[in-house]
Amino acid sequence: MNLTVVVGLMGKRRSIGIDIGHTNIRAARVENGTVVEVLRERTDVPGGPEGVLEQVSRMVIALDHGSGCPVGVGIAGQCDSCLGVVRCGPNLFWPDVPFRDLLSARVRAKVVLRNDVVMATFGEWRQGAGKDVDDLACLFVGTGIGGGAIVGGRLLEGATGCGGHFGHISVCMDGPLCSCGRRGCVEAYAGGRNVEARARSLLLEDPGASPALAAACREDLDRLNGRMISEAASSGDPLSLRIRDDMAAALSSAVASVINSLNPERVVLGGAVLFGFPDLLGMVMRGAVEQCLVPAKAGLSIVPSALGDIAGAIGAATMALERYG
Ligand SMILES: [Zn+2]
Repeated sequence: MNLTVVVGLMGKRRSIGIDIGHTNIRAARVENGTVVEVLRERTDVPGGPEGVLEQVSRMVIALDHGSGCPVGVGIAGQCDSCLGVVRCGPNLFWPDVPFRDLLSARVRAKVVLRNDVVMATFGEWRQGAGKDVDDLACLFVGTGIGGGAIVGGRLLEGATGCGGHFGHISVCMDGPLCSCGRRGCVEAYAGGRNVEARARSLLLEDPGASPALAAACREDLDRLNGRMISEAASSGDPLSLRIRDDMAAALSSAVASVINSLNPERVVLGGAVLFGFPDLLGMVMRGAVEQCLVPAKAGLSIVPSALGDIAGAIGAATMALERYG
């Protein structure tokens, strides 16, 4: 490497952000506040913690070109942010794993670890749809539902680092069982995995309830996925629209609870499942405002995510740079 290249690298404020979801891992290299490279892979869920650690290490090394720049990791689970440990939780069925230190040793870099949507919240606050406010709440609907908040200009972490798990707000005390063990969580109604499970269950009860879905999955319910349900809803399939309407009702109620609890100036909504269903975003925006307390509506805006599916990776990279850059 010649001197010009070395000086060029030294002048860059570089970090890596990793977003480990249930379905996909997204990794981004950020330089001087700009995303310059993004990698996407399917999450090695069957590989468990060791498989995902190996996968993430490889992606970091591919992005950082040996610079040892700081790395931020958001993961779809509950984290102890002080200890850098992924806790055994309702969505990621790992034992407690000291993922921060394991990754740090593998890639020889400083690592900061948080929940994935906490990182997305940080990204939206620093660089996205919430960058001009000090009181912000985010709710992202993907395979599961996560959340995060900025309160008075500070990231909400909570006593044990698991603040913001809005997906486990119960919207119905005797509702369906959630993976967390409670009933009626908004995730049980509107998380992508549960939406698919509900469609399968409704089709098992009444195989003729949705010819559109039966055709889409070729009458093999194991093949049924969220994209098929959202496409069937877009074409007017009554069963898929009923599922969409129940998602909207549950999400509106949960977002209203977040607004009533935190009194944010802005709410950012995101996630592939939320954006995938026709009219769902608008239904949730209107429903939440209708249900929340009148004083909490003053000056409130509810907007879609500005950073899309790399909000978590951008937030993770940004937090890593602010902490260790
Ligand atoms: Zn739950």
